[in-house]
Order: sequence, then structure tokens, then C-alpha cells
Amino acid sequence: MLEVKNLNAFYGQAQALFDVSLRVAAGEMVVLQGLNGAGKSTLLKAVMGLQVRTEGSIFYSREGGQVDISRWETHRRAQAGLGYVAEDRRLFTGLTVRENLHVAASRDAKAQEARVLDLFPILKTLLGRPAAQMSGGQQQMLAIARTLMTNPKVLLLDEPCEGIAPVLVASIRDALLALKSEGLGLLVVEQNRLLAERADRLLWLVAGKVRAS
Ligand code: ATP
Repeated sequence: MLEVKNLNAFYGQAQALFDVSLRVAAGEMVVLQGLNGAGKSTLLKAVMGLQVRTEGSIFYSREGGQVDISRWETHRRAQAGLGYVAEDRRLFTGLTVRENLHVAASRDAKAQEARVLDLFPILKTLLGRPAAQMSGGQQQMLAIARTLMTNPKVLLLDEPCEGIAPVLVASIRDALLALKSEGLGLLVVEQNRLLAERADRLLWLVAGKVRAS
């Protein structure tokens, strides 16, 4: 579904990723771990075409075959089916839960809303609440839900469980497992054991290089 081959990434002259290769299949959850500064966030940004300059290939498969998206603009990667939730969540804190969901909605917004609210039932009770008045865990769910409104096929998540109460971590984990069973591919940067222990594969990044699990 997603295949990264021999990827190098650079911030100016500084190289942050070295010859990284990995794949995420449909229905697979790959969890990426490593120390601070290892390059985990950079890898997700590189796949989305954000902020960092890359060399190498990023293949995405969809109906009709595989395409190299490594030179595509970010919005085109998103339209093709890559969904990304950044570490800082990027919510519109002045907007309500429902408004945040609909900012991202494409066609079929009603059906998509019903689907994401079934995945995160707690959001149903908060639809009219401004995002600023939600807990960190609830905001994280909303950030994932908002990305799901675009109906991605591959989801890239940067530390979705960091600093979140264990009960909400369990809800996020269950939602991700449900998405996986629907056939989404998941690439998740995460140290939290509750989630990491459910990975199909763990990858370690060490100083910008992948070390297998
Ligand atoms: P953390 O767990 O702290 O988020 P990480 O594994 O996600 O760490 P990255 O944030 O990807 O690591 O950083 C990888 C390297 O790239 C680090 O050396 C970092 O200083 C550098 N880096 C990250 N963002 C930028 C930037 N915008 N400009 C320049 N260098 C950057």
C-alpha cells in the first residue's frame, strides 16, 4: 500500500534520514519507535511532502497500480489517500467538534461523520463543544476523526497517545484496530506500550536509519 525506498531527507544541509526503506500493507499497523531526534516525525513529514527535502522513492498503491508520489505536492498525496495527524494536532480550537469535522469533509460528509462518530462515540456527546474546551485525549480523537473525514487509505499518526489518560489511549487503540480491520494501512510513531504491543511490526529508527524490530 505504501512503500518507502532508499529515502534520504534533509533540512537545508543537515541530513535527517539515511537510506530508509519500509512498507505498510493494507490492514497492517507498523509502529515506529526511537529516541528523541531519531527522525520519526521527519519520516512521516517526508511521506506527506512536508517541510523536508527528500531523495528516493515513495510508492503508493491504489486501484490501477503503484505510483511514485515522492515529487507530488502534499495536497495531492492527501487527495490520493494519505491521511496525516501531526503531533500538535492542528485543530481549530475556536471551532466546535462538528465544525472541525466538516472543515475536512469531502463528498458524502454525512455518511463520513456517522462513520467517524461510531469509531469515537465520545465525540457524539461533544459535537457542540469548542475544541479548546476538550481534554488532550478528546482533542487527539477529534484530530484523528477529522483526518478520517477525508477517507484516507493510509493513516500516518505522530504520537497519538502521548500524554493521554490510559482509558482514552485504549479507546484510540481500539479505533485504530477497527480501521486496520477495515483494511487501512497504519504507520504510527508511538512509544506507548498499550498501542505498540498491538503492532504487526515494530521498526526502530536510530539516528535517521531503520533498524528492524
Ligand atoms: P521526537 O521524539 O523528539 O519528536 P523524532 O524522532 O521525531 O524526535 P525528528 O523531529 O524527526 O525526530 O528530528 C530528526 C532530526 O531532524 C533532529 O536532529 C532534529 O533536530 C532535526 N530537525 C527536525 N525538524 C527540523 C527542522 N524543521 N529544521 C531543521 N532540523 C530539524
